[in-house]
Order: sequence, then structure tokens, then C-alpha cells
Amino acid sequence: MNQTGEDLDTLVLNKERAGRKKLALGLYFHVPFCSTTCDFCAFYQEKPSKKGIESYFRGLEMELSRFPPDRSISTIFVGGGTPGLLQPDDLDRFCNLVNSADLEKDYEWSIELAPSEINPEKLDVLKGHGVNRISMGVQTFNPIFMDALGRKHPVEKIYQAYQSIRDAGFQSVNLDLLFGAPGQSLKDWESDLAQALELQPDHLSTYCLTFEEDTAMFLRLSQGKAKIDPEREAEFYEFAWNYLPAHGYEQYEVSNYAKTGHACRHNLHTWGMHEWIGYGPSACTQYQGARRKNIANLESWAEGMKAGNQPTYMEEETLKPEEFAHDAILFGLRMNQGISIPTIAQQFDLSQNLFSEIGKFLDRLVGEGLASKEEPSDYSLTGKGRILCDAIACDLPGLTTF
Ligand code: SF4
Repeated sequence: MNQTGEDLDTLVLNKERAGRKKLALGLYFHVPFCSTTCDFCAFYQEKPSKKGIESYFRGLEMELSRFPPDRSISTIFVGGGTPGLLQPDDLDRFCNLVNSADLEKDYEWSIELAPSEINPEKLDVLKGHGVNRISMGVQTFNPIFMDALGRKHPVEKIYQAYQSIRDAGFQSVNLDLLFGAPGQSLKDWESDLAQALELQPDHLSTYCLTFEEDTAMFLRLSQGKAKIDPEREAEFYEFAWNYLPAHGYEQYEVSNYAKTGHACRHNLHTWGMHEWIGYGPSACTQYQGARRKNIANLESWAEGMKAGNQPTYMEEETLKPEEFAHDAILFGLRMNQGISIPTIAQQFDLSQNLFSEIGKFLDRLVGEGLASKEEPSDYSLTGKGRILCDAIACDLPGLTTF
């Protein structure tokens, strides 16, 4: 390919915005196994067993044959759980299933791996099957906060795992970092960011610790043993917004940064409200005007797939184009590039008149210094606005209906 990385990013964004109907599909695979449960985790996962892994593969084979992708695939994301917990033979079996789909020539195929599960043999299998992006869940380099988050690996394991990924020659590597752990100071956060930068990953995702119900962290919060402080969270966000771009990582979304050419295409596809199919227990799908969530239970999901006549979704809703357009604005405003109302209207075959209330709302944000406006209907949030993006999302009006 003779395009520069920058050209490719622009091309991808424009292509994503060019029209939902023509665009290739994204695929998401949920691998629901973890050896231990991190204290902050709200994802569906369970301890692996021989029987459980076999049920998973049987279910996945059935799901892929019952709901095959109807067109070519541009992005694949394999998350969990801990996909890297699968042994090389199982990873090989898994990748063969994914590879049965019709992948576009310049596809992106990401897989999440935990440092403790990474070894050269597994990486060889993944590389051999065409995986081209590794996302490693580091969370923190600080042993005290690792312990507080329930992460069990030693810090050295992060460095070893990262070196193995680089030695294997993957095209793009992301590191996930988490901030806002109880007791974590801005200095601690700077130290985590600095240590991540020393490794020179291609992409960084920085997430604020959330206290989801049914997690050990939530229990500590409800018992008064941990506290959240929204003002402190804003300071952590703003620190990363200044620090990472100053070190060569362009911010392209509230929590995401990339070196040129390494923005995550699967994320862009999803935030642009394009279509994807999710496979595996608890996986979400957005396809043919509906959103669905698979049953978050391995046995029930696998049984449902086998029987063919049992419900395999725990949630399902049909959305109007107006609702998809609203969500495209909501997620688009989280991106530094912002949104273009005419492009979104075109994407969902809607009249621009329907966006009049949203336009007025965004104009008000411009007046308050929370957003800026370039073309007649292109908006992006300023730094001041981005820190309030959750509140802005809550206040964003719906599309006008007549
Ligand atoms: S490794 Fe990920 S999915 Fe597994 S328990 Fe920890 S946070 Fe949850």
C-alpha cells in the first residue's frame, strides 16, 4: 500500500461515514474465560474447564453457521474474558473459525491478551492466522494498584510479554491503562503513562475505573472502604490529554490515543454506528436495524445454539434510523474529529431538518465555549466540553419528529 498512515486514517474515517449500507461488517468474538476475577470486572467470564471450552467451540460453530456474516469483514475484535487463556491448539481452532469468514484485503484483526497468558507459541499461532493487532491489558505498572485491582501478575511479566509481542512482529500494539484506583495520585498516573511510553506502543487506551455493580470494587465502595471523586477523575483525564499528545500520541477520542496510522478501526466502525455481529455468550450485535445481546451464560448460550429453537438473546431492541443517528452524534462528539450533521443525515437517509433541535443545542455549546463549529453543521467539543461529554450526552436532544 503506498498511502501514508495519515492518509489511511482519513480514508478509513471517510469510508466509515460514507454509508452504512455499503460498508463491510465488523465481527466481535467474546471468549468468556478468566482464571481469576479482577476486582473491577463486570464482563461475563468464568473459570475455564475442558468441558466449558468444548461447549464454547460447539456453540461458536453453531452460531457461525446459523448467523453467517452476509458480506465481507473489515474489522474483527476478539475480547473477553481472556482469549489468551486458550492453549495454542485451541487458539488454532478458534482462528480457523474466524478465518472461515470473508475478510477484506486490508482487514484489522485485534485480540485482547493479558500479560500473564502471553507466550511466543501462542503469538506464533495468532500471527500465522493473520491477527495483526494485539491489545494488552496492562492497567497499571504499580504493584500496589495492581494488587488493589486484583491483577495477579508481577510487573516484570508486562515487560516480558510486550517484548514477545514485538519479537513476533505484530503490526500494531495497544496497551490498556486504568486510572482512578483508590489512593492513586496524579504523580502515580504520570508514572504509569511514562512507563507505558517507554515501551513505545502504537496505541494507548486510558480508562477511568468504574464501580460496576456485582464487582468486588463496588462492594468496597458500598461499604465505604473506597471513594470516587469526579473532580479528581477530570484531572486524570486532562493530564493524559496534555501528556500523551506532547509525546507523539494523537488523541482521537476521549480515552484513545494513537501514533499516526494506528487508530483502532474496529472502534471507529462501532462508534460510527455501523453494523457488526457479536459471537459468544454475552456478545452484543448491531445488525439490520436491531441491537441484541447474547445470553451471558456459556451453557445456556451453547444449548440454545445447539437446539436451534431456543432464544439465544437476553436483550433485543429494534431501532429507528433516527435513533442510530442520535447515537452516531453522541459517540461522534467523544471523538476529537467531531461530527458532521449532513454526513450523518446522509448515512441514515434522513432529512437534515430532523436535526434542527440538535443543531440549536450544539450552537448553544459553541456559545458557552464547550464546542467549536467549522462548516455550517460540523461540530466538535473543545477540551472544556470534552470533560463534560457525559453530561452533554445526557442533555443531547433527540431528532425532531413531525
Ligand atoms: S482479565 Fe479482563 S475479563 Fe478477566 S476478570 Fe480481569 S478484567 Fe475481567
